[in-house]
Amino acid sequence: MTGHDTAEVVIVGGGLEGCAAAWALAERGTTDVVIVERSTVGSGGTGKSSGVVRCHYGVASLAAMATRALEVFENARDVLGEDVGFHQTGYVVGVGEQNAGALAASMADQRAVGVRTEDIDASEVAKLWPSADLEPFAAFAWEERGGYGDAYQTAQAFAGAARRAGVRLRQGTTVTDLITRSGAVTGVRLADGSEIHTGTVVLTAGPWSVPLLAKHGITLPITVHREQIVLIDPGEALGPVPVFSDLVSLQYVRPESGGEILFGNSDLAELEPADPDRYSNQATPSFLDLAVEKVGTRFPGLEDAAIASTYAGCYDVTPDFNPAISETDIEGLIVAAGFSGHGFKIAPSVGRLVADLVLDGTSSDPDIPASDFRLSRFAEGDLLRSPHPYVGAGEMR
Ligand SMILES: Cc1cc2nc3c(=O)[nH]c(=O)nc-3n(C[C@H](O)[C@H](O)[C@H](O)COP(=O)(O)OP(=O)(O)OC[C@H]3O[C@@H](n4cnc5c(N)ncnc54)[C@H](O)[C@@H]3O)c2cc1C
Repeated sequence: MTGHDTAEVVIVGGGLEGCAAAWALAERGTTDVVIVERSTVGSGGTGKSSGVVRCHYGVASLAAMATRALEVFENARDVLGEDVGFHQTGYVVGVGEQNAGALAASMADQRAVGVRTEDIDASEVAKLWPSADLEPFAAFAWEERGGYGDAYQTAQAFAGAARRAGVRLRQGTTVTDLITRSGAVTGVRLADGSEIHTGTVVLTAGPWSVPLLAKHGITLPITVHREQIVLIDPGEALGPVPVFSDLVSLQYVRPESGGEILFGNSDLAELEPADPDRYSNQATPSFLDLAVEKVGTRFPGLEDAAIASTYAGCYDVTPDFNPAISETDIEGLIVAAGFSGHGFKIAPSVGRLVADLVLDGTSSDPDIPASDFRLSRFAEGDLLRSPHPYVGAGEMR
């Protein structure tokens, strides 16, 4: 096909963030939108997500994004017209003595933007996770509304809602270049040589956004890292356990629908560089040892636990582990990429911020300043960091 197409907005990349942006634009009445996806919806990092949903962020704007997003997950049938696979199991985070002050300060900031988070003591956590050794923890936070979702299903639901409103979806279609004239974007070029003409391009191509911007002199500082996930057969029925983020031994676990425990390592001090198009989809023997050690230490009560299966995905990591959701030096070109392993729980709010940037040039939510996520912060060295950092657990933004 060499005929040209036109649209008011072209979204490059049909992952969670691109589909959320399309839905949010449609929500605001902008439906002359086309999502261009080189493969299928959710086939990138989205399909590998652990889907943990929490509002526990040290950065207040992210906590605000997560709590607004929660309302969409909780009311998905009404808002998106279909179920998104959200399991509201609750979420508990535990820290050691050295981080108890930061936890309390962070919770106060979260409450100020509307997050419902409570102090909870070890005896209450013991009721939630009877097999856990809670001795090393000094403090916990509990979010009754937390849990985990299904990122793939959620992306499909955003795409479905957007399409019902009139948004077009072109799967199996690769964008090879952005077209610009006099410093403004005028379209995208596709692999078959055809073009889509537009005044607005939203680039949500995850780590693949980097080369598309580099061609036009824009640096998006993203590195790609492999993240391994281990599914564990607990050897017994777990019951209704919540997601548990353990900031002492740096791991997170959550129940999986088949009765397994999903284990992720939250020690991001040493990252494994990866190629997002060519990476091993299984855990290494040394990672399995780490999983056994961490889960065994924290959950000594699970005596018959055994490894069930493993897989891996890629994080698109920025210098402050936070995304760029931002205008760029090219007029009409907006980027939303670099979610650094936490783009699921905030996706509905990311979509709305993108829609705000497209339609108003700024955020409509005072708790979510667009400036926090500006691309230029990396070059300025003004990184988006928690004012209450956790010692030894920098992954908690
Ligand atoms: C192992 C793992 C665990 C995670 N766990 C959590 C969690 O517990 N909680 C949480 O909040 N987040 C989590 N995340 C992060 C979250 O899943 C991601 O941040 C989010 O899914 C990223 O969505 P995206 O749309 O930015 O990127 P992607 O899903 O990667 O989408 C980008 C899309 O762009 C397409 N594309 C690329 N190049 C082109 C092109 N040239 N033309 C057209 N299309 C193109 C790709 O095919 C792809 O579909 C996890 C991620 C991983 C990998």
